[in-house]
Amino acid sequence: MAAKPKIAFFDFTSCEGCQLTVVDALQTHLGLLDLVEIVQFREAMSERGEDYQIAFIEGSCTRESDEPRLHAIRRQAAVVVALGACAHLGGVNSMKNRWSIENVQTYVYGKHGRELYESYPARPISAVIEVDYAIPGCPIDRFEFVRFVQKLLQGRKPKLPDYPLCVECKLAENACLNKLGQPCLGPVTLAGCNAICPSYGDGCEACRGFAPEANFAHMREILQGHGLPDVEIDAQFTMFNAYQLKAMGANAPLSAGAGNGSRRRAADAEKLPSSTFAAPKES
Ligand code: SF4
Ligand code: SF4
Ligand code: SF4
Repeated sequence: MAAKPKIAFFDFTSCEGCQLTVVDALQTHLGLLDLVEIVQFREAMSERGEDYQIAFIEGSCTRESDEPRLHAIRRQAAVVVALGACAHLGGVNSMKNRWSIENVQTYVYGKHGRELYESYPARPISAVIEVDYAIPGCPIDRFEFVRFVQKLLQGRKPKLPDYPLCVECKLAENACLNKLGQPCLGPVTLAGCNAICPSYGDGCEACRGFAPEANFAHMREILQGHGLPDVEIDAQFTMFNAYQLKAMGANAPLSAGAGNGSRRRAADAEKLPSSTFAAPKES
């Protein structure tokens, strides 16, 4: 019998919710544990095996000291998978990229924040190392994770959809929230979660990233139609995708007065001395 592939899980800046989803998925798909050998998974076991072929990495790169660790994982693993929005996109961590890092450190951690906590603009792990696959979402969808592992073990190439969330939402026969007066970013969001948030009555916030050729101008018009001010629309666009919008440079679909990246904290935006995209440091 062929040796089982050895798998390891790693976490960087994250809430560990995606790893928790993996633990959850393994509880209902115990058969997967017969097919692989997990050698490292801090959230679930004490062992720390360094001999692995497939690395699942959760979390974004938010400090210089993350880089050597990411490179070491890349050197060891034949396959690297970004697990969840933090690793795939930068995710919620990248909201801070809209201000100078010094201001953010002081704002969050107080006057000694700059000395106490190492930090720089958040990046997806693909900005530091080569990534073979991504499982999007905040958190990941457990069924998508299981399907992904099954395909990988079958020697097939897991693929993400290339169409917007609205397609899945229509297939689920949901009434459109935007038509019911509730903001939803489905038209500009990459599908793959079966439109879970709209299916439960919540607007999509684009945690899977943007769909190819997303029409942001029209999306903004729709959101303006709900009476949302530009600062609120910018906050929605950047909740998970501030890094991607920064990469778009002058083409980023943000208003001139882009404010705080968190909708809940939009009112606090003025408390930060400057509102700008800080240049991410590339390695
Ligand atoms: S993607 Fe979301 S659930 Fe997953 S680690 Fe990041 S913040 Fe947590
Ligand atoms: S509710 Fe959202 S995802 Fe569903 S069709 Fe409307 S805009 Fe698209
Ligand atoms: S509906 Fe939108 S916010 Fe909700 S899981 Fe899917 S992509 Fe993420």
